[in-house]
Amino acid sequence: MFGRAPKKSDNARYYEVLGVPKSASQDDLKKAYRKAAIKNHPDKGGDPEKFKELAQAYEVLSDPEKREIYDQYGEDALKEGMSGGGGGHDPFDIFQSFFGGSPFGGGSSRGRRQRRGEDVVHPLKVSLEELYNGTSKKLSLSRNVICRKCNGKGSKSGASMTCPGCHGSGMKVSIRQLGPGMIQQMQHPCSDCKGTGERINEKDRCSDCKGEKVVPEKKVLEVVVEKGMQNGQKISFHGEADEAPDTVTGDIVFVLQQKEHPKFKRKGEDLFYEHSLSLTEALCGFQFVLNHLDGRQLLIKSNQGEVVKPDQNKAINDEGMPIYQRPFMKGKLYIHFTVDFPDSLAPAQSKALEAVLPPKPASQLMDMELDECEETILHDVNMKEEMRRKQVQAQEAYEEDEDDLHGGAQRVQCAQQ
Ligand SMILES: [Zn+2]
Ligand SMILES: [Zn+2]
Repeated sequence: MFGRAPKKSDNARYYEVLGVPKSASQDDLKKAYRKAAIKNHPDKGGDPEKFKELAQAYEVLSDPEKREIYDQYGEDALKEGMSGGGGGHDPFDIFQSFFGGSPFGGGSSRGRRQRRGEDVVHPLKVSLEELYNGTSKKLSLSRNVICRKCNGKGSKSGASMTCPGCHGSGMKVSIRQLGPGMIQQMQHPCSDCKGTGERINEKDRCSDCKGEKVVPEKKVLEVVVEKGMQNGQKISFHGEADEAPDTVTGDIVFVLQQKEHPKFKRKGEDLFYEHSLSLTEALCGFQFVLNHLDGRQLLIKSNQGEVVKPDQNKAINDEGMPIYQRPFMKGKLYIHFTVDFPDSLAPAQSKALEAVLPPKPASQLMDMELDECEETILHDVNMKEEMRRKQVQAQEAYEEDEDDLHGGAQRVQCAQQ
């Protein structure tokens, strides 16, 4: 019955070793194991190899979770994690092989690989002026550093014990059955030891860090915002994030967030400025002072005899944003002009203007022909509002059509009956 089974990585051998069918209940397994264990116990002259094999088979099959894994993935998925002794039902042992950790690391060093600490990201609001001129900001931050008193051991004696919650792995695994033949495994840091895999005896805890291994520390960082930096640009302080034992310290990263400017908009290296002219300025010339982002005052004026049309753009070279790391080069400053027309004119004003403006196109209509035309009335419209109403109307018309269609189909059906 217990002839040594051939080594194969299928999911039947453990059942063969115990001599039970795959459908065996927990009770059947227990009985079969007890019987075989007594018979093969090394103390009673049994084969130690055989005995070990029995224990392994029973350890897996007696644990519903392990049995499920074995039934689906076979022995290979479990073999790495076997403690070889039977008894302990530690799901993590099985999963070691899944997650690539060595199950034989032993003791508290298990799972204590060098991890990379998380980067700490802070948004940093800056004005457009600050991005134009460059600035530096001193920021006070609190971060964890390795406790100097205990050198990050957390204890007076340096001794620590394996965390009972995760058996020193720092991780816990939960299994969820998603459906027939489908399981999901989720790995998450152990909450008892915050993923360190260790616990420190209360009496032995370091008085400075209370066993936490790290202590908070205030640190002032000087963030240099260089001329021409962009919204969203990152400024990193390498290895300045929270320290933790056995961890490569992450970075503190500041992400620039440009505040809206009331007058200027920025696109890359160019600046955009809005300016509205009166009709007289548009026709007869203008000049105005533009306060630039570095406090300089630029005199902006039209050329002699030039007329500026509504919605016209003009640009000044080298008055845009400084280019990052080449701050002596600058983009363009675009000015977009709008023109404020008067709402109405008095008859005398019209006459006076007509006298100086270019003549109207000559009317080609004779009085006689005019008599034959129909009079119309022009009224003001809000184009946006008009288009919105048109869309609603079109939608309603479409829905009516749909109704007609269904109604029509129904009529056809009725006619056929
Ligand atoms: Zn733990
Ligand atoms: Zn300490």
